[in-house]
Amino acid sequence: MEKVRVRYAPSPTGYLHIGGARSALFNYLFAKKFNGDFVFRIEDTDVERNIPGAEASQLHDLIWLGIIPDESTEKPNPKYAPYRQMEKLDIYHKYAQMLIDKGYAYECFCTEEELEQSREDQLASGIASPKYDRRCLNLTEEEKDNLRKKGIKPTIRIKMPDHQDIEFDDLVRGHIKFNTDDIGDWVIMKSNGIPTYNFAVVVDDHLMEISHVLRGEEHLSNTPKQIQVYNYFNWEAPKFGHMTIIINENGKKLSKRDHDILQFMSQYRENGYLPQAIFNFLLLLGWTPEENKEFFTMDEAFECFDPKRLSTSPSMFDNKKLIWMNQHYIKQLTDEQYLSFIKPFVADLLEGYSDEDILKITNMFKGEISFGKQIRDLLSPIINPNEINEQLLPIIENDTAKKVIETFAKYLSLVDEINQDTIKSCFKSTQAELNVKGKDLYMPIRLKLTGIEHGLEMYNIITILGKEKTLKRLK
Ligand code: GLU
Repeated sequence: MEKVRVRYAPSPTGYLHIGGARSALFNYLFAKKFNGDFVFRIEDTDVERNIPGAEASQLHDLIWLGIIPDESTEKPNPKYAPYRQMEKLDIYHKYAQMLIDKGYAYECFCTEEELEQSREDQLASGIASPKYDRRCLNLTEEEKDNLRKKGIKPTIRIKMPDHQDIEFDDLVRGHIKFNTDDIGDWVIMKSNGIPTYNFAVVVDDHLMEISHVLRGEEHLSNTPKQIQVYNYFNWEAPKFGHMTIIINENGKKLSKRDHDILQFMSQYRENGYLPQAIFNFLLLLGWTPEENKEFFTMDEAFECFDPKRLSTSPSMFDNKKLIWMNQHYIKQLTDEQYLSFIKPFVADLLEGYSDEDILKITNMFKGEISFGKQIRDLLSPIINPNEINEQLLPIIENDTAKKVIETFAKYLSLVDEINQDTIKSCFKSTQAELNVKGKDLYMPIRLKLTGIEHGLEMYNIITILGKEKTLKRLK
């Protein structure tokens, strides 16, 4: 088998998104499975839409996920460089000219208005999907010169063969057939000298010796156009695989407007999702393992990934499952890993605490949190207690409650070392002395300490605060 080389080729028009990360992940798995190379390159020809920083962030978010390119814009192999399309315009020009020379492409001087008019005319005459009417196909050199003199810069159009089926075996969807009559002659080079996606991608994939192209289903209808370019150059086309769309819980295509779903890897990172959880989640978003198993380490994924099991029906983004997976991976972290993961989320709240104390405190929440940032909601009221809600005031403003608070504080002040046992015994002594128990005993103290009714076990709260602070708040 030829060397496997696959790629992830984003446009730097945004940050790494769930869909892109999934494409990258499957290409990466494919490369690792077959001892191949995974390439990260950039499709930046849509110049106005490029965003500064998007390329670097896409690459670094991939690396954060554990998807490490063998070659990239930052680690180019000189044999295949450059890895950004805008740095290879002369190369696309050369190949476009070759197509013109062979009679497979031609210059088109039609203006936007003319094209629009032709489209409307075709629609009016009952043609459902209008195509370019080829009015520039047979221009003479003289006509072209005249148009050029008028200042019109031509585009270059590929001449698609007439009445031909273009067929391929898609790795995901099986045999696919398009007819060239439904496609028409399309632009390969824009009038500003920049290639279009469908042309540049073929030149790139060919020159970079890409063997397999795994990408989103939205590119399926681009594939026959690309295959025709391969055919004209007599190049062997890579194998194509088009992954199904990702849908939300309502069965609609996932959109950037689905605000209850985080869309970008950076958002997941900032909210305290673990890369191993996202990796695992994306793995099952479009692929079904043979055995009934949910959790996969990266090595296990390499081991059992089989492209034949890529899903053929849309994959549902199940937010609850992602949260559940993240919780699972948080619980798996060693103390050292957990501390470095969680510390950024509590650094301001626990300023001045030693790492040892931070670990002790944050460990109290380890089994509770689904994502790192959540710890703030749980820890904040303990560190910076809320004002007690007016409706709750009666709970602490009655004689019994006042006595409970006073008595508990009295016993606590006698304690040398704060720990689960000594705190329990303070509660026991208070209970025995006042003959109050349950909610009447705990709630006034909880409210006094945190201002809210729910949260960690009392002994945890008191451990976090320490004796001094607890007494101060009770007083
Ligand atoms: N830049 C294209 C995209 O982000 C790449 C498509 C392809 O993989 O061919 O959708």
